[in-house]
Amino acid sequence: MFVNLTPHAITLQAADGTRFSVRPRRKCRVCGEIDWQGDGNVRIPLTEGMTYSTPECKSHDFEVLPARIDSTPGVCEFTLGAKGFDAGIAIYSRTAYGLPAGIPDCDPNGVNTYIVSALFAGRVGDRIDVVYPGTGPADGCIRENGQVVAVTRLIRA
Ligand SMILES: [Zn+2]
Repeated sequence: MFVNLTPHAITLQAADGTRFSVRPRRKCRVCGEIDWQGDGNVRIPLTEGMTYSTPECKSHDFEVLPARIDSTPGVCEFTLGAKGFDAGIAIYSRTAYGLPAGIPDCDPNGVNTYIVSALFAGRVGDRIDVVYPGTGPADGCIRENGQVVAVTRLIRA
């Protein structure tokens, strides 16, 4: 099954036009249970058929629980101006990124495909169970008013 580790819902569109929305993973603020599908049912989908739910969680408050990469902003190196722009704009050294966190280890027998951001996918290494939404110019995603409303492909990390 799909597990969405981005902070936002992602809509997938199949070749026949069928759409399927994957809500982001959430965590119960009360008991700490993980809602892997973002649908209010607390389940552990790490192995096929091994699920459970706690009905009391239905009334609890959840927070989105995305995977993350810690980042450290660069430092201001100099200011670059232009004619008529004497104040200039600050030029910073590049942002330093830490290791990806908040994603389960790869399980070769697993049933989950984890959807992450392109930035995260680029830093997670070669994993067959990690994908990111195809939103590049040639990826055929569906846009309305400039916003992506559905993707037609997922791209492997
Ligand atoms: Zn709960």
